[in-house]
Amino acid sequence: MENSCIFCSIIKGEIPAQKIFEDEDTFAFLDVHPINRGHTLVVPKIHYANIYEVPDDVLAKIMHTVRFLAPKIKQAVGAEGINIGINNDKAAGQLVFHIHAHIIPRFEGDGHAHWHGNPYQDGEITTIRDIIGQEFK
Ligand code: 5GP
Ligand code: ZN
Repeated sequence: MENSCIFCSIIKGEIPAQKIFEDEDTFAFLDVHPINRGHTLVVPKIHYANIYEVPDDVLAKIMHTVRFLAPKIKQAVGAEGINIGINNDKAAGQLVFHIHAHIIPRFEGDGHAHWHGNPYQDGEITTIRDIIGQEFK
């Protein structure tokens, strides 16, 4: 638990939230500023900042709860699809540094277009593969 963490405060009940579900290791609640109705956040009860810090077993527990809840949320709000996402670092849109998985109900024509892709230039894709590969050496 971190004193300055808003999600730790929600887990402790110090800040109100609309709880969807909790088990021994995870806690799920409605995002207060939803992309679509039913947008839910799943967090571990122990504080880890993001994907770089969270242990494998805790990440597995987060994803276990995500998979348990996603079809139920989809059914409940009549969604036609679900996005699952974890933002890591400010540049990737992470605002709260207590790891959380977003469960985002999606509807045909809801206006939230998929990310725009950009093509590689000639030969660039193999260069990128190689520099990523260097990280495993
Ligand atoms: P991030 O951008 O870090 O991936 O997502 C943080 C999410 O937390 C945002 O979607 C934001 O709306 C949500 N959020 C921030 N503060 C609160 C809060 O106090 N209560 C709830 N329920 N959601 C919050
Ligand atoms: Zn926290």
